[in-house]
Amino acid sequence: MIELKNISFNYKNNAALKDVNILIRQGECVALVGPNGSGKSTFLKILNGILIPNEGEYIFNEEYITSKKLENSKFSKLFHKKIGFVFQNSDAQLFCSTVYEEIAFGPRQIGLKEEEVNKRVYDCMKLLQIEELKHREPYNLSGGEKKKVAIASVLSLNPEVLVLDEPMNGIDPKGKKFLRDFLIKLNESGKTIICSTHDFEYVQGVFKRALVFSENHTIIRDDSFNKVINDELFLQQNNIK
Ligand code: ADP
Repeated sequence: MIELKNISFNYKNNAALKDVNILIRQGECVALVGPNGSGKSTFLKILNGILIPNEGEYIFNEEYITSKKLENSKFSKLFHKKIGFVFQNSDAQLFCSTVYEEIAFGPRQIGLKEEEVNKRVYDCMKLLQIEELKHREPYNLSGGEKKKVAIASVLSLNPEVLVLDEPMNGIDPKGKKFLRDFLIKLNESGKTIICSTHDFEYVQGVFKRALVFSENHTIIRDDSFNKVINDELFLQQNNIK
């Protein structure tokens, strides 16, 4: 479903990713782990077409993703309908005046009828248990509430793949437990999930696979999630824990 071949990315003169080769299949639940600055966010932004790699190829559903194709608004809409991105900072994602409008935005953008938009908004609010926030202004919500609204606003497009950047950051323990169970259910329902995290305690049982990024901006291990997080020596040696 997702294939990265020899991907490298630099921010001007700063290397952020070096020679990444990865294949992710439909239905997988993959964690990205690694120290700060190792390139996890950059990797996720490339998957979502926000950044275009300087070198290498990105293939999504057997289609090469290029800047030229993404400049085409029809292609771009279709691509973003299939792969949804939940930003690390919810404030960078939320911009509407009410929670309802926020979740309705994506479905309206792709031209769904208002009846279908309304159904999707209610379905997503129910899934995230945020019905009572319907009329609230997203900007004034708590961190955990904002995260739920951001996830709902992405899920309302019914994407095949959900990409999340450190979703547990700034969330209280109750919110983290909710997110954990939610990600498990979402993956069981068939969604492919790709998510960066350093919150190992709260993601037990969520991920089957881990991609480990190094301070050198390469992927140094691609293994079972449980094996990786139980390998204390490896985690310490690579400044992950
Ligand atoms: P992680 O998500 O693992 O913390 P990032 O992908 O954010 O890592 O960062 C990878 C590298 O790219 C780091 O060295 C970081 O300082 C650098 N970097 C990230 N964003 C920018 C940017 N907008 N401009 C310049 N350098 C950046």
